[in-house]
Amino acid sequence: MPPSRDPVPLPSWGSAHTLLAWRDLLDAECRKVHRAGCTTIAVSPRSPAGAFTPSQAWRLHHAAVGRLRSLLVPSRERRTYRTPLGPVTVLAVPVEAHRAKSGCLRLEERDAVGELTDADVVLPVQLRRWELGLPPRPCLVCDAPAKRCIALRRHSRQSVVVAAHLRFARAFDGPPDTARPSLPMP
Ligand SMILES: [Zn+2]
Repeated sequence: MPPSRDPVPLPSWGSAHTLLAWRDLLDAECRKVHRAGCTTIAVSPRSPAGAFTPSQAWRLHHAAVGRLRSLLVPSRERRTYRTPLGPVTVLAVPVEAHRAKSGCLRLEERDAVGELTDADVVLPVQLRRWELGLPPRPCLVCDAPAKRCIALRRHSRQSVVVAAHLRFARAFDGPPDTARPSLPMP
């Protein structure tokens, strides 16, 4: 699926030394994309920066955005950015936030493309998994909650990259994916 327009580089991220500074830039872009009556979603890579070649990263990203679009109504506004983590797309979709979050969860849990993708509801409210009574996302390497493994630095970067590559191969080169059961729509 081709992007609707050329990817926009986030300004001055090269001088934004911390991930926090880059996140601030993206938050500002999300506010620009947001439309009244819409829910704004950010689709970003879940694997470590540099885990994939640029062409692999774009292939994965286009597949993820395409899957999300098939789970939701067409977006009112959509922009794609090149970021230090890889491609990020921000979409404003004319659906209520919980319904948009349900689409995000279905993407994340459907197959290996989803497992390598973060799809976050960012506006008008942030909706996190625990707020919906859902368990935390599992780590790419083990089955423990991913945030816990990251906080404890439980796995080496190399082992996370290997786990990401295995999923990429499953998504694009392997046999048809036997996905986990998808969540019901509300
Ligand atoms: Zn882990």
